[in-house]
Amino acid sequence: MEPNDNDKTLSFMRSLCLGEIEQDIIYPFPKVKNSEKEVLTGVFSTLENWLKNKGGDFRKWDRAGEMPPEFLQEMREMGMFSLIVPEEFGGLGLSTTGYSRTLQELARYDGSVAITVGAHSSIGMRGLLLFGTPEQKQKYYSKLASGEMIAAFCLTEPGAGSDAASIKTKAVLEGDHWVITGQKLWITNGGIADFFTVFAKTDGPEGQMTAFIVTRDLGGVSCGPHEDKMGLRASSTTTVQLDQVRVPKENVLGEIGKGFKVAMKILNSGRSGLGGGCVGGMKQLIQMSTHQANERYQFGQKIAEYGLIKQKIGHMVVECYATEAVVSIVAGLVDQGYEDYAVEAAISKVFGTECLWRTADEALQIAGGNGYMCEFPYERVLRDCRINRIFEGTNDILRLFIALSAMNDVGTQLKELASSLKGIFNDPIKGFGLLSGYGQRKFSQVTGVKGAKGSFSQAHPKIREQTMIFEEGVRDLAMAADRILRKHGKNIIGKQFATKRLADIMIDLFALACVISRVSTSIYEKGEIAAEKEIEILKVFSGQVRRRTKSNFGKIDDNDDELIKSLANHALEGEKYSWDTL
Ligand SMILES: Cc1cc2nc3c(=O)[nH]c(=O)nc-3n(C[C@H](O)[C@H](O)[C@H](O)COP(=O)(O)OP(=O)(O)OC[C@H]3O[C@@H](n4cnc5c(N)ncnc54)[C@H](O)[C@@H]3O)c2cc1C
Repeated sequence: MEPNDNDKTLSFMRSLCLGEIEQDIIYPFPKVKNSEKEVLTGVFSTLENWLKNKGGDFRKWDRAGEMPPEFLQEMREMGMFSLIVPEEFGGLGLSTTGYSRTLQELARYDGSVAITVGAHSSIGMRGLLLFGTPEQKQKYYSKLASGEMIAAFCLTEPGAGSDAASIKTKAVLEGDHWVITGQKLWITNGGIADFFTVFAKTDGPEGQMTAFIVTRDLGGVSCGPHEDKMGLRASSTTTVQLDQVRVPKENVLGEIGKGFKVAMKILNSGRSGLGGGCVGGMKQLIQMSTHQANERYQFGQKIAEYGLIKQKIGHMVVECYATEAVVSIVAGLVDQGYEDYAVEAAISKVFGTECLWRTADEALQIAGGNGYMCEFPYERVLRDCRINRIFEGTNDILRLFIALSAMNDVGTQLKELASSLKGIFNDPIKGFGLLSGYGQRKFSQVTGVKGAKGSFSQAHPKIREQTMIFEEGVRDLAMAADRILRKHGKNIIGKQFATKRLADIMIDLFALACVISRVSTSIYEKGEIAAEKEIEILKVFSGQVRRRTKSNFGKIDDNDDELIKSLANHALEGEKYSWDTL
């Protein structure tokens, strides 16, 4: 999509938590560039010809728990490792939107294939793209594009999963080399990669962690056996052992001591790949489920005629459309050069992976007993997509991140307000200025009289009712964030029940904003009649969001949190369930 000239330091979600709708960031709905459309059409038809008859092979490789080297070679030849490498180095040079759309297409065929490509481009070599020096890029890009080198991202260790900052792998400077020793766990592509983005502790005055490019030919790099996994079984997951690996100084990625930031930037920027994969998985499941529902007769009728089947399929369609809207907007933010999209990217990961999980579960239910049989792909898709809610940041940790980032901004505002009040007698004009900004916002939140940024005014009038649900949600969100923070202060960090609720509200509101943006753009472009089904989707989704957020807002003050905690503590102390009917 074409860049626009908005302020690129703005963040939609951070503003939203302060009650401000920065609509220009997400509106109009982003489009794939015309020049890229042609490339993508070509790529997708090649993918179709190549993969459409391989269903039997994918099933076989899943059972065997391995992808044959010959297929990996085919992947190289089909350019699967070149997607994000710039064209001058032999890559396709896809934008984030184009890359996400390609992962969508791959995921329709097989999760293991999609993750092999995704781990290479979304995280394995993304550090090079984002932080590489010209020399590093010159040295590695063409080998990565051709697949001569496949890439892997090495952060997790036996003692450091969610708490990535606690890694033990150490890098010690010896002359012109860093000597790295440590063990990395569950590394996707570990067994087939030659290029590793490795995070190690450097414990210098600059900071704790540094990112390095480590290549297998440096010596001292080895990997463990292929892990026997629940899903994505044909993709390579191994430990990666680093034994006194001598890494040249010029292989540092980004700044020394800033490795944690490098890791987080890679994960944020790479989320569009996983998001695209979720959309592709959902589209495929909807295709399979609708076909199955039309073919299967019970009680003398197609099961498609039954309300309970329609209910599942209707919800699948709504969730797929909403995920596609969210993922496209986040990819668009990256392509337009917005700097601060971490919260939106985290939301897209949580929302997309959970929609896909529900869709896979319902698709299996529609297939009935067939769904449980390995002869059909449903059970494999369900197994494959379960990991999405765990890796690249668990959805639980991401929920904390989403809500706490917002709280941080609200907290800063409250702090500024408090200090301006303190200084109000010394500098009344400054104090009054701040107070009036805050006061205006509070006034509009409490009274419902909207300020300039309190409405999504560009949305089409036809969908005004649904847009108002969003605007009211934003006002309630800002008030809730303010209230929660006043109640818990700094202790909010330990109040995970409350934090999760706020995150769920934020996730719902962002998804609704994205759906409004998409539907409104559609109405303006195609007209109301052509956009009729999309308007129906919005009506359903906005109703769901209204009911869910209302329930979550209500639970801020009316909940069973303390009782639930007490029951959990009881079970945790005894490490058992304490009752029986015998
Ligand atoms: C198939 C597969 C592929 C993977 N690929 C890669 C890869 O390529 N590169 C890589 O570096 N890693 C990879 N990983 C590792 C993955 O990123 C981690 O599994 C993930 O980050 C979670 O860490 P953990 O498993 O140690 O869980 P833990 O961190 O031990 O978490 C366990 C549970 O506790 C919760 N929890 C933890 N801390 C908190 C807290 N403060 N508050 C509330 N809840 C909390 C978590 O949400 C989770 O539910 C992969 C894992 C798998 C299974």
